[in-house]
Amino acid sequence: MADKRGFVRRNRGLFNSNTGPSHTNKKLQEIYFEAARDRRAMQKCGKESETIQHIAAACQQLAPTEYVKRHDGLAKIIHQKLAEAAELIDNKSPYCKYTPVNVLENEHFKLYWNQSILTNKIPFNRPDITFTNKKSKNTFLIDIAVPNTHNLVKIITDKQNKYQELANEICAMWKQKAAQVIPIVMSFTGAIPKSLSQSLTRFNLHPNTYIQLQKSVILGTCSIVRNFLHYK
Ligand SMILES: [Zn+2]
Repeated sequence: MADKRGFVRRNRGLFNSNTGPSHTNKKLQEIYFEAARDRRAMQKCGKESETIQHIAAACQQLAPTEYVKRHDGLAKIIHQKLAEAAELIDNKSPYCKYTPVNVLENEHFKLYWNQSILTNKIPFNRPDITFTNKKSKNTFLIDIAVPNTHNLVKIITDKQNKYQELANEICAMWKQKAAQVIPIVMSFTGAIPKSLSQSLTRFNLHPNTYIQLQKSVILGTCSIVRNFLHYK
């Protein structure tokens, strides 16, 4: 219990502080080193040194479970906000309890969650979210990532390239005026690229949405670090 209380207290500190990303990073380092002092040092994958950067965003052992949870947390917020704005859902559950439906559609919009798009031989055909405005004939291919801060720009470019072929195909296949790849990328400390606010604006989401996204990512990272420290 003492441990749990300690976590809550530290966690609050993260949000109460004037959180620049570097400040958050420092806080995470503190949590890590503080806990590491009074416990055994561990290697999970055995490949890299136990830096906060490795544990929080670069460990292959943690990727399929821990990182997916944090990634989906972020994706769910975007999905829920788009679904609400497009009047595809009307229940307002808190984002942590929200479960996206794979296909939502009404007269004006279509929203896919983690759905493969049937195409001719395009290797990357399953973005996290596909959102179509039927009236304006615009489709957005939205893909989410939570990398290390130094990888932000590279990941955005990678995602753009990865799904561009699919975007072109969708444009032709679905007779869209435009189909755009929109990466939603935030570092594990909550640092955001400049492009994020433009992306949110493109979806007609409130510019402040990034705050909710940040909270979700930082909580996810705290949970990953703590789970790692308690791993035997
Ligand atoms: Zn590792």
